[in-house]
Amino acid sequence: MQGKMRAALKAEAAPGAKVALVDIPSIGPRDVLVQVKAASICGTDMHIYEWDAWAQSRMSVPRIFGHEFAGEVVEVGDDVTTVAPGDFVAAETHIACGHCYQCRTGQANVCQNVQILGIDRDGAFADYISIPEQVAWKTGKEIDHSVASIQEPFGNAVHATYAGEITNKTVAVFGCGPIGLWAVGLCRVSGASTTFAIEPHHLRMDIARQMGADYVLNPAEVDPVARILEVTEGVGVDVVLEMSGHPVAMRQGFKALRNGGRVSLLGLPSRNIELDFANDIIFKGATVYGISGRRIFDTWYRTRRILEAGLLDVKPVITHHLPFDSFHEAMEIMRSGDCGKIVMTM
Ligand code: ZN
Repeated sequence: MQGKMRAALKAEAAPGAKVALVDIPSIGPRDVLVQVKAASICGTDMHIYEWDAWAQSRMSVPRIFGHEFAGEVVEVGDDVTTVAPGDFVAAETHIACGHCYQCRTGQANVCQNVQILGIDRDGAFADYISIPEQVAWKTGKEIDHSVASIQEPFGNAVHATYAGEITNKTVAVFGCGPIGLWAVGLCRVSGASTTFAIEPHHLRMDIARQMGADYVLNPAEVDPVARILEVTEGVGVDVVLEMSGHPVAMRQGFKALRNGGRVSLLGLPSRNIELDFANDIIFKGATVYGISGRRIFDTWYRTRRILEAGLLDVKPVITHHLPFDSFHEAMEIMRSGDCGKIVMTM
């Protein structure tokens, strides 16, 4: 398709981004052109916008960023067989190579040669995006555009929560950004017996209550480890879902875990951190999972079933809907932290 489109472009290796008119991307024989209907903002996008050390080390410019989206297929390459114009799709954002050891043994989420949409190739903060057919995820047209757009980060919550047993377990979710908040909801609907949410932002604390947390603890006011041990009669929780990446919260999570418990680590610490390995992992007999992306495509099938069956209402976590023309305003709201998920409509 010929023509121009709006796009949020990381044009220079410096903080910020510009919304500019650029060419609509051309597609290869195995690619799909999608007209973006909704795109949501991830913490990763904020790293790119601010151009922090991680972004500087990871990506090159110019690049259209953004990777959480949903939209309508408008054109397909000659060799595409599974998606057609008119289909409504979201996308797995990790493009696995398909032939490395991990890809060939069912672990494509940790592909050695992964390329990521909006980082390694142009992303979704634009009117159109070209994606490989292999990552297109057909989505029912009855699903709200904003909900369709957040399937990718919601999938992170699904992957982290269900990496081990959850039913009748006591769970502590450290960090209630959107993924933590959805994890709280998944714990509730999966029959966790007690769910603790640990989060300092008041708006996010309120949403955690709405998503079904039994105890919402502000670590600026109470010691979450002491409170969790008190409620669990000194045992600690069966499961810790670490969504903050904050060094203090990570250490508290391991302290709050019972002997023999499970930790899913998803939040990214910005630097190396110190943990008491001897007491909090080894002698504790802890099981520790690193959560990278979503299991391809097991997590997506689970996500679809949860949404289609209406098992969990994900909408309370979506706090802002803004038109794409308010891109910079959206990024400023994101920076403030006074938000859940922000969805931009194209
Ligand atoms: Zn691979």
